[in-house]
Amino acid sequence: MAPSLCRSCGTKLEHTFVDLGMSPLANSYVKPEQLNRMEPFYPLHVYVCGECLLVQLEQFSSPADIFSDYAYFSSFSDSWLAHAKAYVDMITPRFSLDRNSKVVEIASNDGYLLQNFVARGIPVLGVEPAANVAEVAKGKGIPTKVLFFGEKTARDLVEDGWSADLIIGNNVLAHVPDLNDFVKGLKLLLKPTGVVTMEFPHLLQLMEQNQFDTIYHEHFSYFSFLAVEQVFVRHGMKLFDVEEVPTHGGSLRIYAAHAEDSSKQIEDRARDLKSREQTNGYGLLDHYLSFGSKVETAKRMLLSFLISAKHEGKRVVGYGAPAKGNTLLNYCGVRTDFVDYTVDRSPHKQGHFLPGVHIPIYAPDQICHTRPDYVLILPWNLREEVIQHMSYIREWGGQFVVPIPEVKVYP
Ligand SMILES: [Zn+2]
Repeated sequence: MAPSLCRSCGTKLEHTFVDLGMSPLANSYVKPEQLNRMEPFYPLHVYVCGECLLVQLEQFSSPADIFSDYAYFSSFSDSWLAHAKAYVDMITPRFSLDRNSKVVEIASNDGYLLQNFVARGIPVLGVEPAANVAEVAKGKGIPTKVLFFGEKTARDLVEDGWSADLIIGNNVLAHVPDLNDFVKGLKLLLKPTGVVTMEFPHLLQLMEQNQFDTIYHEHFSYFSFLAVEQVFVRHGMKLFDVEEVPTHGGSLRIYAAHAEDSSKQIEDRARDLKSREQTNGYGLLDHYLSFGSKVETAKRMLLSFLISAKHEGKRVVGYGAPAKGNTLLNYCGVRTDFVDYTVDRSPHKQGHFLPGVHIPIYAPDQICHTRPDYVLILPWNLREEVIQHMSYIREWGGQFVVPIPEVKVYP
């Protein structure tokens, strides 16, 4: 297959960042009646652009396939709800948002965030491509349009009077196949002194914490501040501030404004992060080419742990059914031969099976009934929340295991 072109700058992609082999789509949970059917597997081969150093996957399936029956409902995570509320408490006074403002959230999910603006009487509009998730938001009284965002959607929204004072996008930028079209849309939709905030996992954390399991087909781009800034600058915007937030193992929240908006000065936080990335090698191709061998080491360590546990007759189960777990288990070839089942709080996942490896997903109380020796926490970013919630497994000597950055047992 001929190499693709960089999603940001159009350069031919020639350098491998990491190759995780063939894997099913991470959110394609399998229903019991589908267990005997074929499942499509696609390469999880990540490249780094030799020119702008954007780390990226080629697009193998259309977003319509990925999002038509998306199983992720934001409101099932307490910590994510708390994060969204804290954001609204911070951003509302900082940019003086009130009843005359307009807030648009892209990939607004089930209204987990916008509901906090609604409670303050601030007009909101959600843009959410997954119809089943958007229905839940509408049921909560949050105006939501079922659309993908890009230049065309932005033009339509402007015509409808939705030029925005604040545009929010949490965990969407990385999922955008046509990055330039998306950012062009942000530029169009933003009022002259408006602000865009976008959150996405920080590539620096992915590499330093070895979070290779956050690589999946739905996640097209993996951003450093240096690489994302180039995209916004190309479309007449500037990144004037940035925060490092703990979600998804370490994310960036970037603040963008029109390049010509003199009311926004570049803050120290943006300058400092840029120089930190440069100091740590994120401006050099060689730094990216060293990542693959770290990933292989983590795979061998997880398998060694599981093999020893099974030799000792221990029972291992999973906690959570996040997309990242599907990358990890498929890459490592871990099936019910190692992990009996997993559990998830979302009723939309219970009764299904993990894609590829076909590990069944139950409700969390299954763990009380079967009293396993080890609980492998797949959403390691929530490990403290999980360990606290499930401390009762210690009653029968159960232990928690976290697989990333490398396998670790919490007695
Ligand atoms: Zn590039």
